[in-house]
Amino acid sequence: MVPDVAALLDQLPASSDDFARLAGTDPDQFRPFQETVAESFADRFEVNYDDLCVLFAGASDRCVEILAGRPADDFRSAWMLAAIGTPAALTAVAERVRAGGDRSEFEDCGLWVPPHGPAERRFTPERRAIFLEVGGFPGADHPVGLPISVVADAPAVWHYLSVRLDEIPGLPSWPATHAHLVAPESTDRWTLFAAVDPGGRYHDVLVELTDGEDDEEDDDGFTFQDDRSFGLGRVVLRPYGPGLVYSNGHIHSTPGVVGTAGGPPIGLYPNPACPKCERLMFHVATVTSMVREHGDGFRSLYLCENCKTAAVTATSWN
Ligand SMILES: [Zn+2]
Repeated sequence: MVPDVAALLDQLPASSDDFARLAGTDPDQFRPFQETVAESFADRFEVNYDDLCVLFAGASDRCVEILAGRPADDFRSAWMLAAIGTPAALTAVAERVRAGGDRSEFEDCGLWVPPHGPAERRFTPERRAIFLEVGGFPGADHPVGLPISVVADAPAVWHYLSVRLDEIPGLPSWPATHAHLVAPESTDRWTLFAAVDPGGRYHDVLVELTDGEDDEEDDDGFTFQDDRSFGLGRVVLRPYGPGLVYSNGHIHSTPGVVGTAGGPPIGLYPNPACPKCERLMFHVATVTSMVREHGDGFRSLYLCENCKTAAVTATSWN
């Protein structure tokens, strides 16, 4: 059934999940409404950033003009502008940042503003839903729960998942077939950086703990107790479509879904800059810790293709 987009607009913000569903199933239906929404509905369009990247992809230069003219603290308009991805939009983002705008707001959205020229997208707009499945381990394309020593040096102690990169269209080139989501002992918030050898294994692993976000537990005396035989399996990547549950702005209510491969970063957290070249790193995938329980929250994987550096971040739920 073709949705009546005009009727859905009249029901905003209650119909926000309908727009998330439209992004996942039939985004072309939204295309004729891009300028209208930018012009008249931006304050009520409570749609998450990754869906905006689908709905506003390739929007007109007029749409860019409308959004670029909004006050800098209008975050929904800024998200829409960041989501468009055309040369005009990327130029407008760079101009706003160089005029004193909030660089971190766009970096959280996966846009990097280099010293010169337009902003660069540090993500692929192509998304795949990540489903956790039992069995097929360890020879799966995307194994969950490999022995950590196979994929990374200490202080990484926990393997969530390895992602086969050629199943995600639009990623930069990488020296290995897979990249890995791994964790240190800490169940707090952290960012893990690693160099990558030609086989894809992580070495020179460095962990930065994020201060001040989580004081609910004292980590003194914490010892790693997670059962290494727990949660072995695999994930499979499937295109977005009508089979997913679109609820509260995400697809995590779909049975088996534990994350998204490709697409932008969540948009609510700082994304890592490459420790070697300082460029914003390229977002690959974000899963919840439910993929293989260790800690609590989202786990995201990033790459710097130039420096052959990987990063994994641990953030909270929202
Ligand atoms: Zn780099």
